[in-house]
Amino acid sequence: MKINKNYQELSRDYLFSEVARRVAIFQEGHPEARVIRLGIGDVTQPICPVVMDAMKQAAEDETHPETFHGYGPEQGYDFLREELRKYYETFGVKLTDKEIFVSDGAKSDLGNFLDLLDRDNTVLVPDPVYPVYRDTNVMDGRRILYMRADRDNAFLPMPDPEQKVDVIYLCSPNNPTGAAYTRDQLAEWVAYANQQHAVILFDAAYESFIQDAEVPHSIFEIPGARTCAVEFCSLSKTAGFTGIRCGYTVVSEELVRDGMSLRDMWLRRQTTKFNGVSYPVQRAAAAVFSHEGQEGCAKNRRVYQENARVISETLYQLGIWHVGGKNSPYIWMECPEGMTSWDFFDDLLRRAQVVGTPGSGFGQNGEGFFRLTAFGTPEGTREAMERLARCYGKER
Ligand code: PLP
Repeated sequence: MKINKNYQELSRDYLFSEVARRVAIFQEGHPEARVIRLGIGDVTQPICPVVMDAMKQAAEDETHPETFHGYGPEQGYDFLREELRKYYETFGVKLTDKEIFVSDGAKSDLGNFLDLLDRDNTVLVPDPVYPVYRDTNVMDGRRILYMRADRDNAFLPMPDPEQKVDVIYLCSPNNPTGAAYTRDQLAEWVAYANQQHAVILFDAAYESFIQDAEVPHSIFEIPGARTCAVEFCSLSKTAGFTGIRCGYTVVSEELVRDGMSLRDMWLRRQTTKFNGVSYPVQRAAAAVFSHEGQEGCAKNRRVYQENARVISETLYQLGIWHVGGKNSPYIWMECPEGMTSWDFFDDLLRRAQVVGTPGSGFGQNGEGFFRLTAFGTPEGTREAMERLARCYGKER
């Protein structure tokens, strides 16, 4: 038996374990300290009642012979895919139900989609990056090129027409930076991808946080995207499904490479290797798109959006450069006083007892930057920002 040696090329998954290690050491030395965590990428607000009621009812259905559901369709139940199709219509995007695939989350689909792509492709990923894009390609041994995201491009890198690539990862609104592409910027990416016969793997996991009209919710709002893009989305942040698990992927019927339909290939892949998402979870997911479900999700989202506003306003007042927060639950800030990401992590923990995520953990261009998330409690977020202002304000 030969193993996949590409796994040896993966860098140690060290970011969040190192954060936890440093926080544990600090707490051991300062048992009285009330540490506030703004590093987490998980939601904290509970799922809205109408959604859980639907799940409970579906669980009840399973106890009666006339409403029992066994294996479901691999692509997802029609009742959920129909809700998703209508949801896309609210952005002006028309999809056929064949193009929508329900899954247990965006992370699985992002990894699994690589089954369709030859190893001999050049992949373009942003740096800093959501590590899944990089690591899943390292596992397969693909060549990876990094595009520089930095202050000069407001962490929104644009295509280099001279560069030849096959697969392009875009995440908008972005994790970790919170930056979001405008319609015009995405149109440039779509034109580039079509011209190169490349495929854009577009991660829209944070689309529900978008507030600006010029920021598209879906890549399919851009003319030309149907021939070059695949979209991955998730109910994790939209509806608090990080623990429940449900996502969806859209593969357009017009996406064809080497004479093969990627939609047909994805269907074949899913029907062969995946047996669908559980019936109660899909019922809960469908309830997210009901009127009450949408209102419940919006109520939770407003909590995070207000946290993001408080963080962003504090940073403005302190004169600290940052992006994100407006269309995203992430705020990406420059470390004060020219500190490195880890130096600022230690300094912030020691002086303010606040935890964030060092930007360098997301790639080399993240050095000197720091990610704060809006997923904390309102009280915790406000207090964290008061402490930040006390420690890094001008009067110091
Ligand atoms: N894509 C991005 C950019 C994310 O930040 C996350 C989760 O943090 C995911 C995908 C994973 O989503 P899911 O929970 O649906 O697997």
